[in-house]
Amino acid sequence: MKYTKSEALHEEALQHIVGGVNSPSRSYKAVGGGAPVAMAYGKGAYFYDIDDNRYIDYLAAYGPIVTGHGHPHIAKAIAHAAETGVLFGTATEHEVTFAKMLKEAIPTLDKVRFNNSGTEAVMTTVRIARAYTGRTKMIKFAGCYHGHFDQVLVAAGSGPATLGSPDSAGVPESVATEVITVPFNDPEAFKHAMERWGEQIAGILIEPIVGNFGIVEPKPGFLELVHEMAKQYGALTIHDEIITAFRFHYGAAHTMLGLTPDLVALGKVIGGGLPIGAYGGKKDIMETVAPLGPAYQAGTMAGNPASMQAGIACLEVLKQPGIYEEMDRLGAILEQGILEAAKKHNITITVNRLKGALTIYFTDEKVVNYEQAEKSDGEIFGRFFKLMLSQGINLAPSKYEAWFLTTEHTEEDITETIAAVDYAFSQL
Ligand code: PMP
Repeated sequence: MKYTKSEALHEEALQHIVGGVNSPSRSYKAVGGGAPVAMAYGKGAYFYDIDDNRYIDYLAAYGPIVTGHGHPHIAKAIAHAAETGVLFGTATEHEVTFAKMLKEAIPTLDKVRFNNSGTEAVMTTVRIARAYTGRTKMIKFAGCYHGHFDQVLVAAGSGPATLGSPDSAGVPESVATEVITVPFNDPEAFKHAMERWGEQIAGILIEPIVGNFGIVEPKPGFLELVHEMAKQYGALTIHDEIITAFRFHYGAAHTMLGLTPDLVALGKVIGGGLPIGAYGGKKDIMETVAPLGPAYQAGTMAGNPASMQAGIACLEVLKQPGIYEEMDRLGAILEQGILEAAKKHNITITVNRLKGALTIYFTDEKVVNYEQAEKSDGEIFGRFFKLMLSQGINLAPSKYEAWFLTTEHTEEDITETIAAVDYAFSQL
């Protein structure tokens, strides 16, 4: 494969855009360097770079593109928005329709508010938890990423971990000391933290199923403990469902897990590919937000008609029967194929998969926390990534990210992918 145009574009991008990328996770720094491939267009499960190479896309834009690229139903909704006005700065019917759809799918949401990104959504839930409880400290879990605002850039997985900077420069010590980080899936450590700081904790922020040091499910009883102790100490539970909502079923992960968080942050999938964030939760807690209450949150683009209509259309697609079952079926075939190829070529891996999302760790240990995910061999992953890319399979350029299936992947795509994995493993 030739990447001539991508390489030239990256050289140019470096002159104008910091690091040549608009989000650090897009850089190939963690996979041995090189010019990131620039995409020209996408259709269904494929996208095509500016050198005209075709890729099967497992990046799915880090999660949102669950219905593939250019889905006709979503495209129609976006075209309608483009023709009839993308931004009014007023109330619209779309935002009410979409809020009702989200509430129906996620019964925990008494009230919602839309904004423009996952970062904003989580940031606001943290503010609300503080406003509601009158406390300042937060608990988060090591390796979980919740966006790029100060309070959560502490042991933050995914992008920051990949680039080897778990704490960002510019985050004041005074902010970092308000955040207590606990290993995921470690009940003893969590109990200990609550016994020590429980009375000062405003909120406990958690990805109910982790997506940011690969796909990691909670051990039985772990989230239940988090919820019980939060209640005992008067702290709020905040589920960051920016990756998980509508990824595994039509609704939120916490519903699947039988949990009722106080606040929920949403993003990615719910925008059908357009910028979005949303948060919601129990009525009395949500009424802390302006104009009803003293916690402030606002946004010029919040609830814009384009994102609302794309989101509505996306959920309409996802509501069709059999969608998630098919992603699970294909995910299982892919996982099996990967494991068999690893066995054949004597490559040590661990695969974590939940339905249409999976992660390959180049380690022999079962991965249930960030410390174990870190042990996945980044150098091998980097070579694997490039070998897959050269065969037209696009993965996230980080050992910590998940592969995401979409509604558009077919069994043929999976077969092609397994053959590519087999070859890549033979070359490692
Ligand atoms: N929370 C989680 C769990 C995420 O995975 C992300 C993004 N990867 C965010 C929050 C931040 O979302 P955004 O990039 O839209 O600001």
